[in-house]
Amino acid sequence: MSPVSETYWGIPGYVIFWVLFAIAFGLFAQRFYFLFRLMLLGRKENRFDQIGERIKAMLVEVIPQWCTLKTVTRKDLAGLGHALLFWCFSLFFISYIIFIGLAGGFGLSTYIEQTPFETVYFSILDFAAVLVTLTLIVAAIRRYILRVPRLEPSVEAGIILMMVFSLMALHVLGVGFDHASRGVHGSWPPLGAALANYLSKTGLSQTTLETVSRGLWWLHYLVILSFMVYIPRSKHLHILASLVNAFFKPLGPKVVLEPIPLEALEAPEGSVTLGASKIEDLTWKDLLDLYACAVCGRCHVNCPAQLTGKTLSPRELIHNLKEYLLDVGPGLLASKAKPSAESQAEITVKSMIGGAITEDEIWACTTCGACQEVCPVNIEHIRKIIELRRNLVLEQSKMPESGQLMLRNMQQRGHPWAGVQSMRLRGDWTSELDVKILAEGDTIHTLFWVGCTGALVERNVKATLAMARILKAARVDFGVLGDAETCCGDPARRTGYEFQFQMMAEQNIEMFKSFGIKEIITTCPHCYNTMKHEYPRYGGDFKVIHYTEFLNDLIKKSKLKLPHPLNASLTYHDACYLGRYNDIYNEPRQILKAIPQARLVEMERSKEMGFCCGGGGGLMWIEEQPGTTKINQMRLEDVLKTKAETVVTACPYCLQMFEDAIDHKNLKDSLKAKDLIELVEEALKKS
Ligand code: SF4
Ligand code: SF4
Repeated sequence: MSPVSETYWGIPGYVIFWVLFAIAFGLFAQRFYFLFRLMLLGRKENRFDQIGERIKAMLVEVIPQWCTLKTVTRKDLAGLGHALLFWCFSLFFISYIIFIGLAGGFGLSTYIEQTPFETVYFSILDFAAVLVTLTLIVAAIRRYILRVPRLEPSVEAGIILMMVFSLMALHVLGVGFDHASRGVHGSWPPLGAALANYLSKTGLSQTTLETVSRGLWWLHYLVILSFMVYIPRSKHLHILASLVNAFFKPLGPKVVLEPIPLEALEAPEGSVTLGASKIEDLTWKDLLDLYACAVCGRCHVNCPAQLTGKTLSPRELIHNLKEYLLDVGPGLLASKAKPSAESQAEITVKSMIGGAITEDEIWACTTCGACQEVCPVNIEHIRKIIELRRNLVLEQSKMPESGQLMLRNMQQRGHPWAGVQSMRLRGDWTSELDVKILAEGDTIHTLFWVGCTGALVERNVKATLAMARILKAARVDFGVLGDAETCCGDPARRTGYEFQFQMMAEQNIEMFKSFGIKEIITTCPHCYNTMKHEYPRYGGDFKVIHYTEFLNDLIKKSKLKLPHPLNASLTYHDACYLGRYNDIYNEPRQILKAIPQARLVEMERSKEMGFCCGGGGGLMWIEEQPGTTKINQMRLEDVLKTKAETVVTACPYCLQMFEDAIDHKNLKDSLKAKDLIELVEEALKKS
């Protein structure tokens, strides 16, 4: 019989059970409602499309725990422990509904207790309890003794570890005392039965066994309820929020930047905020992200800015924004309910930029996406940083000086590079080849979009020429825009100068349409990403192809043969905007495999875990924080460890960054940086 059906000090157990539940649930719901209202302070954003797809994506991620298993490496097995904890704890959660809720609270114990179902389920729980306890021990050792850098040895984490451990212990103790008090002697569930057998030999009286059994049952119930109350008040809010976040995660491109309506420019000053200067300028999804953070620190230890000594840490960014929301949120809610000048003044005291996050942090991000890649709970860091940049640039006219020059160039010359000589090169490269330069009235199906760096920077022009020659060798009918080609807008967008981006995107789209262009091949992953994922929002639906996809396809179809052996050891650097942003990992490697005698040596940090070159997010033109290691130099160390003779990439930015790093280390004689296209041409030339 369930302890709930007893009477305690004249009060029926059911009354105690439900009163305790009502108090705990009330506290849970109160906090939950508060957090929900805070979240709704954020701007509107539609993430309610493709509901079926979203449910599928959530289940596929959460049930098999792909979200944490994807982060398991030889050096960090914590994701495995987390997955075990999730599966085992889910079994316990179901057991609380059945054996405490239904059997206890709803009086169904006669149908549930002492049945074969109970024995089997409790036996499974015994194994789960052992696994959970072992996982907790390892987690505590890593956090408090080994002090793994990505984990904070916080009191909060300690409380949760203790609570979960006490739930495991109370389960085993409860079954043991219950069986002993009822005189049940068996072998299953193994731990409970062994304890019961031991207790029955200790000579404890029947009354003691029954009293302890009842006491343990109620204690177990109290710990479960406390857990429910504590979760939304602690960082373990992520247990709930991460499930919801998995539902609302981006289903298309991984980084979704919302356009700013151009009408916002016309709005009276102060009536519309451009970008985010206040927490409520972020969207509700951005605020949900803050709740979902488990403070696991995976982003912290994979962020190139953090690893090279910059002040930016994506973990701290999210944590500080959450603290800021919890700090100013109640005031914002109060001022919403009763808008008065006083309450408005109160909530603007502490600003988000400069308070929760500094300008240095905002400008240190390369938008490489490493943080988002490893985040087990689908947090979108990059768009928050871009929103903050937008505010700095568009409203406060603040930007590092080097970046300002780049934006001025974009406005005046249509590209981010300085210098008239560079400008001349744009026209020069086409004169070396018989390439069709599109003129008014022409139409063409396939455009070779060269990109600013490929057209204007001398080193990259070599790769561009190689690409054009290969396209011709493969008899591809294509055209180029020549001097009419401007920037795709990527550097402006990543640095927050949204209107410049939108203007360029619209102009380019119009031009593409005027030439009847259907397909765009580009060598630049930044142009590729922008045109493929961001132009469609402005009416530009073209088939955008990166040259690695295009050439790999030609090689597979035997339309392009690479007969000339390249007797060299190579290492391939995954450009962030090609790899992490677009999952193009295999194509470049398959091309390398097709080159006879090319020996590929992988860097330790490669593919999804690849390390940024330091040039993305507009940082190609922005000085890194003084006194810190340059990101390209740190990446060069990875290259040097492979002992390869050539570092290969498929991105003009990365090529530039490697050239600079090699130059800086005076390694020009022993290490070469090449674009993959140059290797393809070498392998193609002689037979
Ligand atoms: S995008 Fe890259 S640089 Fe920016 S916070 Fe994330 S990991 Fe760090
Ligand atoms: S943002 Fe993601 S990866 Fe970073 S600490 Fe939070 S949960 Fe971990």
